[in-house]
Amino acid sequence: MEFKIIGAESTFLHPGKGFMPEKVRFEVRKDPLTGRTGHYSHFGAIKPQKLDLEHYKKPEIKGFCPFCLDKRDVATPKFTADVYPEGRPAKGEATLIPNLFPYDVYSAVMIMADDHVVPLEHLNNKRLHDAFTLGIDFLKRVKTLDPSLPYHLMTWNYMPPSGGGLVHPHQQYFATQCPGNQFTDELTASAQFYQMHGVDYWSLLVERERDSGQRYVANIGASHWLIPFVCLGILGDVMCIFPDVYSIEEFGERHINDLVVGLRKVFEYYQAEGIMSLNASLLFGAEGQRYFPCHLRVSARTFLNMRDFAPDLNFFQAILGEPVSVTMPEDLCKDVRRFF
Ligand SMILES: [Zn+2]
Repeated sequence: MEFKIIGAESTFLHPGKGFMPEKVRFEVRKDPLTGRTGHYSHFGAIKPQKLDLEHYKKPEIKGFCPFCLDKRDVATPKFTADVYPEGRPAKGEATLIPNLFPYDVYSAVMIMADDHVVPLEHLNNKRLHDAFTLGIDFLKRVKTLDPSLPYHLMTWNYMPPSGGGLVHPHQQYFATQCPGNQFTDELTASAQFYQMHGVDYWSLLVERERDSGQRYVANIGASHWLIPFVCLGILGDVMCIFPDVYSIEEFGERHINDLVVGLRKVFEYYQAEGIMSLNASLLFGAEGQRYFPCHLRVSARTFLNMRDFAPDLNFFQAILGEPVSVTMPEDLCKDVRRFF
């Protein structure tokens, strides 16, 4: 397991410093598992932008929201009886519906709350717990219904900077044979690592990161929280690994509890930093393997500015498939750890 850093400096004559020579450092890091690279540059140049949540509540801005209670019954689909005889299963405020625009054969949307606008601090333990419990139940159910779809995912766009089309908080849950390039690269490399070394990469990563302490945030029950060596988001990521869970049926009540407790702490960090939007994914490998444990990635998102709403993704991610982060993982770790 190699944590490879290619670092260098660029020199130019700085206009703000009387055109004296200025050296600015950047880094390219190589993910120890997949070999995929990520750039670290632009340090401190991008600040999370404050979203006006009250604005999203205004009728002329809100427009038509199928997830709001006054529209939900007529505007959202229901499951067929073989999946959920009750049509739209619910737990507390969490309500699960089929995705009108499915990603795969079994593709669901979790409406997480009754309210249209829910700030991070109101994504409380109960709301998160109910949503994850119902979503995990769905994934377990579809695994039984169709075992030929081996991979199970929870994905989440929260608030407009994340790409979420609706402000009303919702997640996606689906089973698939095609879980995306990042998942597939991680999975393939994990299988190769296991074959070569006879040990699961992710458990070894937890051990290595815990020993070094540089990117290890905390342990909560069965979960280990850390900052990835190569982050995908511009403001960095937080990752959570469950080394004892290899597939969806092994994810139980205690794992949901650990997940919710940790996520709440990440959200407390976000609130302190003014971060108001995120992407997240919870990934499950196929049944039977012992090399790809369940893990969560949370990636902070923001607009670059509120003047023209420039997104925080550009040619790097869109064309080169290369993540760029403006925060070093080791610095991010120190900041996040204070909330755990
Ligand atoms: Zn709504």
